[in-house]
Amino acid sequence: MTETADVVVVGGGAMGVSIAYHLAVGGAGRVLLLERDDALGTESTGRCAGGFRVQFSSEINVRLSLASVRMIHDFSATHGLPLDVHVEGYLFLVRDPAGWARHGAAAAMQRGLGARVEELDPAAVAELVPGLATEGLVGATFGPDDGIADPSGLTSGYATLARRAGVDIRLRTAATVIRTTADGGRILGVATPGGDIEAPIVVNAAGVWAPALAATCGLELPIRPELRHVVVTSDFPGRPERRTLVIDTATMFYFHREGSGVLMGMPPRGEPVVTFGTAVDERWIAEELLPAACQVLPGLADAGLASAWGGLYEMTPDHHAILGPVEALAGLFLACGFSGHGFQHAPIVGKVTAELVLGLPATVDVSTLRMERFARGELIGESHVV
Ligand SMILES: Cc1cc2nc3c(=O)[nH]c(=O)nc-3n(C[C@H](O)[C@H](O)[C@H](O)COP(=O)(O)OP(=O)(O)OC[C@H]3O[C@@H](n4cnc5c(N)ncnc54)[C@H](O)[C@@H]3O)c2cc1C
Repeated sequence: MTETADVVVVGGGAMGVSIAYHLAVGGAGRVLLLERDDALGTESTGRCAGGFRVQFSSEINVRLSLASVRMIHDFSATHGLPLDVHVEGYLFLVRDPAGWARHGAAAAMQRGLGARVEELDPAAVAELVPGLATEGLVGATFGPDDGIADPSGLTSGYATLARRAGVDIRLRTAATVIRTTADGGRILGVATPGGDIEAPIVVNAAGVWAPALAATCGLELPIRPELRHVVVTSDFPGRPERRTLVIDTATMFYFHREGSGVLMGMPPRGEPVVTFGTAVDERWIAEELLPAACQVLPGLADAGLASAWGGLYEMTPDHHAILGPVEALAGLFLACGFSGHGFQHAPIVGKVTAELVLGLPATVDVSTLRMERFARGELIGESHVV
């Protein structure tokens, strides 16, 4: 017998479990979540740095963050489940006057939308995070409500809530094909190695693999996988006490205290590394990351390396997510292409995606993030990409 569902969500990262939960509590009926791995949240979600912030340069990202950060702050109080959350701010260090003008304008926009963002001079920066190199610093923007949270905790939290709300979560189950009517205009469901699942609605939340799945129904998604490293150090003299996430905008090198050391990363200089591989490049860490790190936090020269891993950013051409229904294919919804900030947007994107599927007014208007923007040439700029 062919199995049926009201909605099939493909992908068991932070995004998929949040979507599935919000669909189930919103009254979407029988919701099935398919994850091909042995466990939830082991891909980009499990490799991420856990940062959340209202400091973006596009209004839509700030609006998503304002709603999502509130949901992260309140997760434990709202749902009665543990989530490790540290609200000690994001600090963007700016070392050139042109960059300072851009960051000041972005901070004014963020405040205009209701965010708390301060502009700090170098003395205030040195007081906030002692040990930072402040020579040549023009200033910094500081979001006191920004912070870091545990990606695995958020994923397992939403998974628990989803199961309680009746979602059927299937591990080791890949969606191999999105099935459509013969004219390709409407969703019929998905194929899996265990058989077909009939469903009028499919949500593609398959991370960097969303394009591969979309291609099975003739859809081309402009998302490419880019390798990013995370490195965690051992303790060192002068290690900051605060868990503020500091970003040097000259290189986009970032760190926050993690345990007795710091957790840090940086985008590669020059051409991005486009790959599905996640092997650690030790040469890059030694020759590129560590020198940049020591310029920002000189005490790191005395730190040992405790661990390192690679993970994939799911990059779109304008560094914004692809969200919402697909015009040419009724019943298909997208929640992918988060371009390195999907963990923090998972709570609100889950809610908004459920609202769109259910035909309810969206808490945040994400219509500018639809897939069709690429064909229409309506790309959105975002400069605060780490
Ligand atoms: C190093 C690094 C640091 C980051 N730091 C941050 C940060 O500080 N803050 C932040 O907000 N974001 C950060 N990100 C980005 C964030 O991790 C991602 O945007 C987010 O995790 C995306 O979640 P997702 O659920 O869409 O994708 P994923 O977590 O990748 O989940 C997709 C899931 O879909 C499954 N899947 C794929 N294809 C199929 C299929 N056909 N059938 C069934 N299952 C399928 C996969 O197995 C996977 O589990 C970081 C990312 C990296 C790599």
